[in-house]
Amino acid sequence: MKPAPFAYAKARSVEQAVALLGENKEARLLAGGQSLIATLNMRLSAPSLLIDINGVDGLDGITKKGDAIEIGALTRHAAAERSETIARYAPLIARAMPHIGHVAIRNRGTLGGSIAFADPAAELPACLLALDGEVEASGPTGRRTIKADDFFKGLFETALASSEMLTAIRVPAAGEDTRVGFAELARRHGDYAIVGLAASARAEGKSLADVRLAFFGVGATPMRAKKSEAALAGGDIEAAVAALDLEPPDDVQASGAVKKHLAGVLLKRVAKRLMEGKP
Ligand SMILES: Cc1cc2nc3c(=O)[nH]c(=O)nc-3n(C[C@H](O)[C@H](O)[C@H](O)COP(=O)(O)OP(=O)(O)OC[C@H]3O[C@@H](n4cnc5c(N)ncnc54)[C@H](O)[C@@H]3O)c2cc1C
Repeated sequence: MKPAPFAYAKARSVEQAVALLGENKEARLLAGGQSLIATLNMRLSAPSLLIDINGVDGLDGITKKGDAIEIGALTRHAAAERSETIARYAPLIARAMPHIGHVAIRNRGTLGGSIAFADPAAELPACLLALDGEVEASGPTGRRTIKADDFFKGLFETALASSEMLTAIRVPAAGEDTRVGFAELARRHGDYAIVGLAASARAEGKSLADVRLAFFGVGATPMRAKKSEAALAGGDIEAAVAALDLEPPDDVQASGAVKKHLAGVLLKRVAKRLMEGKP
């Protein structure tokens, strides 16, 4: 199918993009186009205006700023996948990257687009949540920061207002005591996950602290399993699996019961690696 007719504007600055968003409630930002263009072609959305942000300078850097890693919204998945800064200071994101679609998609798709799109089966929203990261949003009244815990509101729904643009994400820089784990089950490599898990923790002697387990593909948003986090901090993997407080709905990939079983399988694998300090 072909998209419904739309107008096109190429923004040259964040301010211009935000002004255009404010003037037109039916507008959409165009980043890598890897999700948006498909929804247009299938007529799942019909915005009256596409605001292309690919010409906005300064939105594609990966920088260590103090204790955090800041990733500009227009950073392509492929750039993050190759980044030494990401490999060293955001190893969970490095682990997730190869699972996102295929090379051609990663060459165009952006981290900002993936987080703003908020597909519940996507890898990066879950990584942001597991890392206790945050989103920087720019709107008509300036910039604000939104914690990942408050950002994902519902199915493809975030805390961004219609006149706001995501300009960067920030995650804490990994230190010596950082432990991360990632696993997903997909029908074929590169497909969206049936179920996935992004996890982070801090090693405290032989125990784990600040455990954060973010599952994806199990509900309308990436979801933390807080009872399992507590059990894992107590060092008990079996108890963490038994405590799994998820109720995934059935979807086209699998029934809720199968997804819950698979979530337990992934949790066991990831928890073991977190405890042993293996990536
Ligand atoms: C065949 C295929 C397989 C894929 N497999 C996976 C997969 O396994 N895992 C996965 O995570 N993704 C997958 N993707 C999607 C891919 O990761 C996209 O890159 C990503 O979802 C969206 O990023 P984008 O830059 O292409 O955004 P776009 O498609 O340009 O935009 C997506 C949405 O986000 C909004 N948006 C974009 N940037 C911003 C911003 N800065 N601020 C506010 N709103 C913004 C747009 O208005 C639009 O509504 C796949 C895509 C394809 C085509």
